[in-house]
Amino acid sequence: MDLGKGLRTAMAKLTGAKLVDEAAVKEFLRDVQRVLIANDVPVKLVFELSKRIEKSVLGEEQAKGLSLREQVVRSIYDELVALLGEKYEPDLKPRRILLLGLYGSGKTTTCGKLAQFYKKRGLSAALVCADTDRPAAYQQLQQLGAKCGAPFHGIENEKDVKKILQKHLPLIKEDIIIVDSAGRSGFDEELVKQLKTIVDEVQPQEKILVMSADIGQTAARQATEFHQAVGLTGVIITKLDGSGKGGGALAACHAAKVPVLFIGLGEKLEDLQAFDSKKFVGRLLGFPDFEALMEKIKEVGEQEKLQETEMDKLTLGAFYSQLKAARKMGPLSSVFGMMGMQDMPADMMKTSEDKLKRYEAIISSMTKYERDNAECLRKQKGRIERVAKGAGVKPEEVRELLTQFEKMANLVNGFKKNRGLRKKLEKMLGKSGMDMNKLQGMMGGG
Ligand code: GDP
Ligand code: MG
Repeated sequence: MDLGKGLRTAMAKLTGAKLVDEAAVKEFLRDVQRVLIANDVPVKLVFELSKRIEKSVLGEEQAKGLSLREQVVRSIYDELVALLGEKYEPDLKPRRILLLGLYGSGKTTTCGKLAQFYKKRGLSAALVCADTDRPAAYQQLQQLGAKCGAPFHGIENEKDVKKILQKHLPLIKEDIIIVDSAGRSGFDEELVKQLKTIVDEVQPQEKILVMSADIGQTAARQATEFHQAVGLTGVIITKLDGSGKGGGALAACHAAKVPVLFIGLGEKLEDLQAFDSKKFVGRLLGFPDFEALMEKIKEVGEQEKLQETEMDKLTLGAFYSQLKAARKMGPLSSVFGMMGMQDMPADMMKTSEDKLKRYEAIISSMTKYERDNAECLRKQKGRIERVAKGAGVKPEEVRELLTQFEKMANLVNGFKKNRGLRKKLEKMLGKSGMDMNKLQGMMGGG
């Protein structure tokens, strides 16, 4: 299972548990351990991480004002961020960058991506082909240069790297000079020799090892080998879009004290990001901005006491609460999302703030009977018009709300026919009905 999916599943299990006690936390930590180890995160790091979480959550030092659920989520987030290392702030000063690494790791592609990255930030960039091994290396880099508007330098079919560099480097006036080098299928003397020649000629301020995410925790060994040979300033991990092992590569680099500078997330020029562990973890867990989410969970908790959802029969009131919560915190925050019904109809997710206000007005213009038995509104003449008048909206808008509600009610009904899920749902909500607020607070999904 890939890292993100595994973590989200573990989170959903924890947040969906009716009662989060010590046993539930321990089970959660076991799940997390399994997922991390299966994704090539070094075992030692995994055990250290889970020990720290256990201590911070179950130990004496519990943070005040947070539920156990909240604490676990907070803690796993912080620990994952720490596991992956620092955020990288690219330096926007003119300099020379050498990319190196094994065959197919993504060096040439990354040269183009870097040129584009710096150009977007107002610097000029030039590309130099110092890969004299691969026949097509010259054309590949030339095309990338043309695509992002970075001048390209090289000598086609020239086998002497020195010649190329001595002739072309003096011609380059751009701020950022990016040099592509040849790879090998493995780390060997021949490669080191060639890299040393290039380093001597270029005198790069940055020597960056490019590695593909799918090598997992062997990234640490590779980085160490290259570092001892030519002295690295950092690494770029590519193909994080395709590999579930990316977490392993990132964690291993951090443990080996080689900073991850950028990550590659696709084949296109724009698929490069300066590495930011918070952003990365947020994405793994399914929330682009985790900090803001935690804030919001609290805020919502204070502002409104959402009513418990009677899942036997979805009422308009419960529907409205869900709609509002989903808008505030994202699709996975609602009970529906947590149950795996992530495809709340897209138009519902996009309900505007303004529209929500009008829906609120509409619902508050209904009698309790109407709220609990929405079907009567369409069946009995005059009700829709009365509600519309009371809320100061057109009858069409009341119908629109009812249509959305009916869509959701259908989803819930279909859902209830599924016995397995139904059991899970009942367990979650409990006989006494659970505080919706807490449920929503503790999202998950996945
Ligand atoms: P090199 O041999 O190290 O120069 O590697 P290349 O730059 O030629 O890349 C090898 C292959 O990996 C090409 O097909 C690239 O399109 C692909 N590639 C490079 N970076 C990424 C990435 O971040 N994501 C994905 N999905 N593919 C990538
Ligand atoms: Mg190449």
